[in-house]
Amino acid sequence: MDEQTARREIVRVGKLMYERSYVVSSDGNVSVRLDDGRVVATPTQTSKGRMTEDGLAVTDLEGRALNDRRASSELAMHLLIYRERADVRAVCHAHPPHGSAFAVAGLAIDRPILSEVILTLGCVPLAEYGTPSTEELTEAMRPLVRNHNALLMANHGAVAYGADVWQAFDRLETLEHTAKIAILARALGGARDLPPDSIEKLIEVRERAGYLDERARCQACGYLHETQVVCPTGERPAAPPSRREAANGAASNGKISLTREELIELLSQAARLAP
Ligand SMILES: [Zn+2]
Repeated sequence: MDEQTARREIVRVGKLMYERSYVVSSDGNVSVRLDDGRVVATPTQTSKGRMTEDGLAVTDLEGRALNDRRASSELAMHLLIYRERADVRAVCHAHPPHGSAFAVAGLAIDRPILSEVILTLGCVPLAEYGTPSTEELTEAMRPLVRNHNALLMANHGAVAYGADVWQAFDRLETLEHTAKIAILARALGGARDLPPDSIEKLIEVRERAGYLDERARCQACGYLHETQVVCPTGERPAAPPSRREAANGAASNGKISLTREELIELLSQAARLAP
């Protein structure tokens, strides 16, 4: 992509992120990696709703300034993703309220509740907390970048990336929309997961259609462990333990704890299964 197109599209995506409340004030940042390896990025301390094409920063892949604008302090997160993923040409980072609520609650967006999300995005893991703009954050993200196209960052927000700035934005939008639906479903009594055989069919479809490749079988994703789908490289990155797993899983003393709703659901499931 040429620099002028990248500048125009970054400004358009920034406006959309602001108008859709994925960011407020000077939150968030967007970048594009050009064909020559330079990176065009949103400038520091600027509202994404009020950027101009000539106000953007340009850096190299080490983050060294190549013009007189200072890039966002969170650029390191973008550069990590470009280094880990040769196929990625654009990154969008924001604090969308529903996705960020998952990140604040210590939850990944990783339940198989929406067929189209399994087809196009896969699951969104939660990277452990790291101080923004430091190596703590990039180190927490590093093991997850390869197999996922979007991540949550604990107590912070979300990042999505893709082959161009629109694919990165679309993935951010899907992440936020999924989080919103999951929260609403909870208010209606809880989301129902798709069964493992339906998930396997969706994974076949997404690979045949080219939406996601086999690498997505290696996602740090709760529901993949329940299917027959195997990661081709044999790797299966473990998701950082989320608070939900901590709450639902067996504690070290062998006791488990359930909420009243979870106990009722468990008992009614058992009643339905009884002959
Ligand atoms: Zn941020």
